[in-house]
Amino acid sequence: MEQTLMMVKPDAVARNLVGRILARVEESGLRVIRLRMVHLQAQEARAFYRVHEGRPFLDALVAFMSSGPIVVGVLEGEDAIRRWRDLMGATDPAKAAEGTIRKDFAENIERNSVHGSDAPETAREEIAFHALSLGLRG
Ligand code: ATP
Ligand code: MG
Repeated sequence: MEQTLMMVKPDAVARNLVGRILARVEESGLRVIRLRMVHLQAQEARAFYRVHEGRPFLDALVAFMSSGPIVVGVLEGEDAIRRWRDLMGATDPAKAAEGTIRKDFAENIERNSVHGSDAPETAREEIAFHALSLGLRG
């Protein structure tokens, strides 16, 4: 069993897409084992995306991710990290495969509706980052 961090980003929450995105998760067989709506402060969004320090899109990304509420969750299942990223689709919706969440819902490469951890180590770090919000012990 593997766990991964999911976020429904502000663009998708603002367009009433939370239910449809969670339905795709559940229909895939992944289990939603933690779930919370939070509104990140800019400094929290910057800390979450610190791996992108120095990238030209970081300031805009931080402003976007702290612009409104998001839904944070932990998904569990066999191969959960890869399965959730497959459901999400490519970062740029213009390049995302048919039937993926980003293909169907994302507005553009920044406002791309969902986040998923990309490896076991980042999944552990990202779940730990949101542990307090999710009611988990650090
Ligand atoms: P995420 O980490 O959010 O699941 P990802 O792993 O597909 O997405 P990353 O390369 O980690 O993509 O980028 C993190 C986020 O930064 C993207 O999801 C997107 O919101 C934003 N982003 C990435 N590249 C660009 C870009 N070239 N222009 C604008 N925003 C970008
Ligand atoms: Mg990423």
